[in-house]
Parts: sequence; C-alpha cells; structure tokens
Amino acid sequence: MTKKQTQLSLLMQWYKTYGRHSLPWRHTRDPYAIYVSEAMLQQTQVDRVIPFYAAWLKTFPTWAALARAKTDTLIRAWAGLGYNRRALYLRESARRVEANGAPKSLEDWRALPGMGPYASAAVYGFTKQKFVPAIDTNVRRVIGRIFLGIPYPLPSDDDRILQCVTTSPIKQEIEDSRYLSRHLTSALMDFGSLICTAKHPLCSTCPLRDVCRAKKSIQDHPTHDAPRTTHAPKERRHASKTHPDRIYRGRILALVREKNKIEIKKIGKLVDSTFDLKKDSAWMNHLVQRLVTEGFLKQKKSFVTLSND
Ligand code: SF4
Repeated sequence: MTKKQTQLSLLMQWYKTYGRHSLPWRHTRDPYAIYVSEAMLQQTQVDRVIPFYAAWLKTFPTWAALARAKTDTLIRAWAGLGYNRRALYLRESARRVEANGAPKSLEDWRALPGMGPYASAAVYGFTKQKFVPAIDTNVRRVIGRIFLGIPYPLPSDDDRILQCVTTSPIKQEIEDSRYLSRHLTSALMDFGSLICTAKHPLCSTCPLRDVCRAKKSIQDHPTHDAPRTTHAPKERRHASKTHPDRIYRGRILALVREKNKIEIKKIGKLVDSTFDLKKDSAWMNHLVQRLVTEGFLKQKKSFVTLSND
C-alpha cells in the first residue's frame, strides 16, 4: 500500500467513479431540501424515494409552504412512502423553523421532531459540506469491517466504530482532505449499499480487498453469506394477526384516503381479510382512535375522514 492508498483514499476513488452522484439531494445546498431527503430516506429505499422527493418539493418547496400544509394534503403527498408519522414530523419541524428560525447547529437539527442522531448529523454535515461522525447501518458495517475487522458489526460495536473515525490517524486524514470530508458520508452510504452489503459483500472484486481487515474472515467463514441477524425491536401485534399493527394503520389511512369518508365499523373487514367481528373489533377501534388522537384522522360521529387541521 503506497502512502496515498489508504482505506479511505481507495474508498473515495471508488466513490468518484461509481458513487450515485445523480441523486437529486446531492445537488442542493438548501437545508430544507436536504432535510426532506433525510426524513424520506430514514425508512425507505433510495430508488423509491426519488420520485416522492421531487413531487414533495414541488408541492411544498419551502419550510413556509410545508408549515401551512393541511394534514390531508400531507398524507396524500406521502402516500406510498410508509411510516406516515414522518410527514407530520416534517410539518412540525417546518412550523418550528418558521417560528424560531432555521437550525444553525447540530443540536438545533437534533432538536427537530423525528431526527435521530444519524439523520441530524447527516443533514448538518451536508449543509456544512463536511463529515460529521454518526452511525447508521452502512457506516457501522463499512467502518466496522474495513478498520476493525468485524465481519458483521452490531450496535454494541458502535462506540468502537465512532472512536475509530474520531481519532487520528483517520480523523486527521478526513480533516486533511476537503473532498474526503465533504463526500465521506455519501461514499459510505453508496459503498455499503452497492459493494460492502450486509449479506453478500463483493469481497473478491472489492477495491479495498487488500486493505480490509474483515475480508479474510468473511471469505473464510463457512456461513459468510448468512450474517448474524440483528433483532429488530418487536412491533406491537394483535393476537395471531399476520402483520404488526403498523401495517394495519397504514391500510386504514390508505382506505380513508381513497374513500374520503368511511364509517368506522366498516373499516375492519376492508383492511384485514381475517377480521373477526367478535375478536377484533376492540383492537380495530383502538387503531382508528389512535390515528384520530395522533392527528391523522378526524372523527365525526361514527365516521372518519383525513384530518384537515
Ligand atoms: S473486502 Fe469485503 S468486507 Fe472488506 S470492504 Fe470490501 S466488500 Fe467490504
């Protein structure tokens, strides 16, 4: 390895050629647009986000436009992205920005609703065009493998991973290169999605194969294509239903969106093919009431509509 061919310099060489430079949010300096992209990307795949991102910015081009939006308009604009709560968080953030001014520091971004440590660091970093250390699944996997030799890093490895990028020589290398600092977050994201993937990392053709500390154990490991699974937090699920409540909540919203107005007692059968009037009515009513309480739906007598608050 020559002096210039460090792990990071090889990563950035790869990124220059193969990074997803056409992603629309990589061509803006507008903090609002960057924030929208991060909110959408938190739980939705990149390819799926692209058309929604463009349409959202057309409908709500500024913090002010979003702050004025009615809930029903938001829910319709968000339809298909899932995890609808993010749409309400976005508007709540816009209202706070309109009231208090645009976020200036990492702490300001972190204080907005729905912004976890990674998303706030990413938005702040993109707006400032510099690397702000934070861990998400791609960063954990790529940094954990390349520098620490952990084939399948877990959240319990995060402290070590964070320490790795915040201490020299790696920290120094990042600070010494404006290009590296500016694009490292995107490079880690792309490399983790396209090469150093969770289940089948492309080690044999990887440009970092000679400098990666995990390559050998991944290739030697007999179950290298079956990584240890991380246990996602258990989602609330009713009785023996096939899906968690989250899925039925999404279906209820989709149904109300489609019908505009619907009688509550008719919802169960339309969103759950195994709906049993006796066993499931209380549960279904509870789901609907939660959507009302959370501000997604409005109830008038025995009917619900999308909220227009
Ligand atoms: S050699 Fe394999 S584990 Fe190491 S960075 Fe490349 S793809 Fe990832």
